[in-house]
Amino acid sequence: MLTNDVLDKWDRENFFHPSTHLAQHARGESPARIIKGAEGSHIIDRDGNRLLDGFAGLYCVNAGYGQRAITDAIAAQAHELSYYHSYAGHGTEAAITLARMVMERAPAHMSKVYFGLGGSDANETNIKLLWYYNNILGRPQKKKIISRWRGYHGSGLMTGSLTGLGLFHAKFDLPMAGVLHTVAPDFFRRENLDQTEAEFVAHCVADLEAIIDREGADTIAAFIGEPVLGTGGIVPPPEGYWDAIQAVLQKHDIALIADEVVTGFGRLGTMFGSDHYGLKPDFITIAKGLTSAYAPLSGSIVSDRVWKVLEQGTDENGPLGHGWTYSAHPIGAAAGVANLQVIEDQKLVENAATVGPYLHRKMQEALGDHPHVGDIRGAGMLCAVELVENRGDRAFYDPARKIGPQVAAALLSKGVIGRAMPQSDIIGFAPPFCLTEAEADEIVAKTTQAVVEVIGVA
Ligand code: PLP
Repeated sequence: MLTNDVLDKWDRENFFHPSTHLAQHARGESPARIIKGAEGSHIIDRDGNRLLDGFAGLYCVNAGYGQRAITDAIAAQAHELSYYHSYAGHGTEAAITLARMVMERAPAHMSKVYFGLGGSDANETNIKLLWYYNNILGRPQKKKIISRWRGYHGSGLMTGSLTGLGLFHAKFDLPMAGVLHTVAPDFFRRENLDQTEAEFVAHCVADLEAIIDREGADTIAAFIGEPVLGTGGIVPPPEGYWDAIQAVLQKHDIALIADEVVTGFGRLGTMFGSDHYGLKPDFITIAKGLTSAYAPLSGSIVSDRVWKVLEQGTDENGPLGHGWTYSAHPIGAAAGVANLQVIEDQKLVENAATVGPYLHRKMQEALGDHPHVGDIRGAGMLCAVELVENRGDRAFYDPARKIGPQVAAALLSKGVIGRAMPQSDIIGFAPPFCLTEAEADEIVAKTTQAVVEVIGVA
């Protein structure tokens, strides 16, 4: 039974939703999903239905819902000091404490953290700082950025350009000039099925080198990548990929931006994905897990090498012309401090490191032999099930059949949220780190039922 129906009407009349089929929504052809409460790994909709949130919102509620220590810290901060800016050397106790906590957890060669609001603006900051950096170093032509197809880095003008998904480019006049895309490190989707994993890595490296040769290393500022491809399909890199890519970048003095918006603060079972894969980035982008989405906050962590040049730049040119009104907002910062403390106190990274692989293993046992499941993969508290028309010759479904979205809808009807990843038939899971093994079992059992219901074959 529906309640609060006026909300449904107001929603369709007034609310411009992101990443939504606007026309269908306005016409009432797709359900309005109105969420009212949440606890642990569950959200509760306005009709009182409890749903197991296998995607932690948008892989951001890492600490789980309803953590009182975080909500109390937000309330206390709002009462004491709801806002002051951080321009011209101003700060708040919360922002300074959080900066310290982030830098204690970041790889040793990193120097400082700049706080923004979301992952997209943090990546915009990174690119601007890189351009500034190369101008200060006297190499104004070194500005292009290499990203990967199927990478996701946000949906602003620059970050939407970096994102390697056609949906985010088409009709928006993106990507902008100066953004180049190289192959996605997705071994399962490799074009040449005869390639071994090592040969596929060599192919990725060759594609990157070809771009650098064609454009000239002196025109390329940076390579940006997520340690594990996220929105592009939850794809851990093939063995040896990051070592091989980093060697090329170092050879050509091309900076590395590790976009850790999803992987930062524990999702892979280590504090950063850079620790997990041995990355030595010049910039690390953080957002979601920084506050577990209790309040909006992101960050750009810069390395010692970059920081020195930024200091030189301001000595030569005066204050840095970059900042947002809400940079280091104290309410976000207070949420971040409490969140990182909760993650530590409740050993949530350790839980992600055990329950994540358990979920992956159980999914493999349940669906690994299904004739329409092509690949099951995972890394820490990330897991994905890729559906195919024919497993033998890895034939993909016609996207128009929307098999992935149908399976996700069937799963939802059974009370579990999995995400139909864009532009492919992949069901993604990125649960809160507090997920229990019993909840992982429920995700697996209901995913299996949903796959069988939509595609058939028990
Ligand atoms: N980078 C990555 C890896 C992401 O997954 C996302 C969002 O999902 C972003 C950047 C953009 O973050 P936001 O949506 O907070 O702007």
